[in-house]
Amino acid sequence: MENIENVAGRIGGIKKRLRCLSDEIWNHPELAYKEYFAVGEAKKFLTEQGFRVENPCCGIETAFRAEYGTGKPAFAIFAEFDALPDVGHACGHNLICAAALGAFCAAADELKEKNLPGKIVLLGSPAEESGGGKVKMIQQGCLENIDAAMMVHPSFRATPDTGSCAITRFDVIFHGKSSHAAAAPELGINALAAVNLLFAGINAYREQIPENCRIHGIITDGGEAPNITPARAACRFFLRSTSEEWNQKIEQRFHDIVRGAELMTGARAEMIPFNIPYQSRKPNVFLNKAYLENLTSLGVEYVIPARGGRGSSDFGNVSQKVPGIHPYFPIADHEIAAHSEEFRVCSGTDFAFDNAMKAAAAMAATALKYLTEPDFKARVDADFKGC
Ligand SMILES: [Zn+2]
Ligand SMILES: [Zn+2]
Repeated sequence: MENIENVAGRIGGIKKRLRCLSDEIWNHPELAYKEYFAVGEAKKFLTEQGFRVENPCCGIETAFRAEYGTGKPAFAIFAEFDALPDVGHACGHNLICAAALGAFCAAADELKEKNLPGKIVLLGSPAEESGGGKVKMIQQGCLENIDAAMMVHPSFRATPDTGSCAITRFDVIFHGKSSHAAAAPELGINALAAVNLLFAGINAYREQIPENCRIHGIITDGGEAPNITPARAACRFFLRSTSEEWNQKIEQRFHDIVRGAELMTGARAEMIPFNIPYQSRKPNVFLNKAYLENLTSLGVEYVIPARGGRGSSDFGNVSQKVPGIHPYFPIADHEIAAHSEEFRVCSGTDFAFDNAMKAAAAMAATALKYLTEPDFKARVDADFKGC
């Protein structure tokens, strides 16, 4: 428990400055790949703390990287800082950024002062909500020479990482033929009918999918006027499962149902992938255990949820590549939904920030344990490899 006390003390020393950063980012919500203000704030802070910041990074203007230490092993801490349309920081990524920066500085200072082996790396990853910043950064090699990775995320309670769904997303546009819907309906091909049949097909399919799958869609274009047979209609669907195998199965069935809607109506379907697919998260048992032990020692109580997470994150791709976890810390004392106005408000409170700093300390101590305890590293690595 020595690590946790030391890093908690170090974070205490920079807490005020991190609170300003978190509040500034919360007050300036920015969407995917446009997070210039947030990255500017992070760079300013890291430079003040004596670190050199690489930005742009991985060919992305709003990605950044900093590191301390040499050689192996190397542990990466991911920061996020993007917001959502309309609801701003309703996923609390301002807190994720402050926690990542705090954890990185505390771990780096410990390595420096005690002349410990290993390297701590901070990866600033844009566009988690849409755009798959981490997926693009991985494609550009951000995990080369990295042995394990971690980030923390706000929630209404503290929990370990219980996994997440792989996700694929599609826009489906049906092309039909317009006609006067009353005077000459026989000359039209109704594209909206194809959209409706796609929804009907998906709803019938729901009975045959396991609980760890999610399929949800919206109609994005339903035609122009009731007296015009819609020549164009469109919808957007998200397909998810915690099982990569099931995600592929539901995607295949989705293609078949789209094809069925074409056959039933005569409309032609155009399927366009929307956003980058994310892989499911593969939580590491021993990193989870260490994080929860560290968090508990700071007085935060955790719960183990009855079932795994059903959301999706581009950290999924990270955890499939190297051992990793994406656990949670509390920002409210009652259940609140992510991506809601209430979550946005809670992401700016003292309670949320205090817990973000405790999560940061728990993350830094977990990283140090991995870097400095070969037995622990061996257990983490073996769990990742499925041994
Ligand atoms: Zn979110
Ligand atoms: Zn989020």
